[in-house]
Order: sequence, then structure tokens, then C-alpha cells
Amino acid sequence: MKKINIAIDGPASSGKSTVAKILAQHYGYVYTDTGAMYRSITYLALKTGCSLEDESGLVALIDIYPITFAPTETGQDVFVDGTKVTEEIRQPEVTNAVSKVSAYQKVREKLVQQQQKIAENGGVVMDGRDIGTAVLPQAEVKVFLVASVEERAERRYKENQQKGITTSFDTLKKEIEQRDYLDSHREISPLKQADDAVRIDTTGMSITEVVAAIQQIVDQKME
Ligand code: C5P
Repeated sequence: MKKINIAIDGPASSGKSTVAKILAQHYGYVYTDTGAMYRSITYLALKTGCSLEDESGLVALIDIYPITFAPTETGQDVFVDGTKVTEEIRQPEVTNAVSKVSAYQKVREKLVQQQQKIAENGGVVMDGRDIGTAVLPQAEVKVFLVASVEERAERRYKENQQKGITTSFDTLKKEIEQRDYLDSHREISPLKQADDAVRIDTTGMSITEVVAAIQQIVDQKME
């Protein structure tokens, strides 16, 4: 059977990665978390002292430290230059700086090239902000997931509690709104629904329901 590409975009904490992982497992596809790539460069900048204003310095980090993924029982580990950074890249310092790094054209060009290479033979579920619009405009299935900011902050709050991160609900809500604002208003490949994407509002929906809705779209494409 022909392997298609599935693009899942949407604002912060809209459930993209959770459903993308389940879909990838269901179809035997490769899951690619493009947010983890922008997070990895941001993490490296903070760790090495590279200024977030220094676009060429940030681009150099991409060349020096290759980003790789390895599937695990529950999802995926992320590595930079062979060092596992799965947890480190989810820390609030990285989350609150990543939109600055992801707004640079040269950073995006490099990472988009890598993302397109991963998907060149199909069989990929890729999540992010610009997958349907810029990275894989030819993807056979495009989904744009949205949810109310309250529900997204609630989901992130619960996730954080499990990881021992203690940011308050109100702070999380503000941070999510701020990140969505920056991601939607940047000049290059802003967060935007592709014209041919299916929009799903997941407010009040369970993960199983969201996955089932997307599977229906994918199965129709594969018929
Ligand atoms: O998906 P996640 O919330 O982990 O993404 C982190 C950040 O990476 C986003 O807020 C955005 O600034 C950036 N990003 C992006 N383009 C993508 C994926 C993520 O600009 N395709």
C-alpha cells in the first residue's frame, strides 16, 4: 500500500503530539516532532551561551549538533549529538524562548530541509506549525487541531504536574497565549491553517475521539 504523509498542525498544547504518536503507531509510520527540533536548538543556545539574537550562531548549532529521534515504548526520545535531551527541551526556560529562535528564516530553512528529507518517501506523521503550509504542502492528509486556551492550559498543567514542573495554571495560560501570538505573527511561515486542512476543535473531545476522527480521514485517502 502506498505510504502517505500526514501533517498535523495547530497551536501550543492542542494535543498534536499525543495523537500524532498514536496515529504513527497505528499505521506503522514514522513520527516526527518538529517542535522538538526548534526546542533542541533553543536548548543548545541556552546551554552553550549562544545569544538568542545571533541568527548565524544559532544556525551553526544546527550544523554542529545533529538532532536525532529514537522511538520508545511510550513515544520518542530526542538526542542532540548523541546526548538525550527529551526532558531538558520541555523545561519552561526552553518553552519560553523557543518562539524567538523559530522566527529566524535561516534556522527555519535548515530545519525544514531536514524535515522534508525525513518525509521524502512518505510514511510520516509530522506535527508542528507549518507542516501543511510550508514543510509538506503536498501531504495527502492535513489536519489543524485547535482547542480553547483554558483546556490547553489545563492539559499542560496536568502534564507538568506528572513531570514535577510547578508553573501555576494562570502563568501557563499566559505563556500559551504569548507563544501562540508570537508563532502566528512571525513573518516566516507563521502558524496558520492550510486552505486544504481539516480543522478539528478538540475542546471537550477525548484523545480516542480525536484519533478516530483523523483515522477516518486517513483511511478514506488510502482507499
Ligand atoms: O510543538 P511545540 O510546542 O513543542 O513547538 C515548540 C515551538 O517550536 C513552537 O512554539 C514554535 O515556536 C516552534 N515550531 C515552529 N514550527 C514548527 C514546530 C514548532 O515554529 N513546525
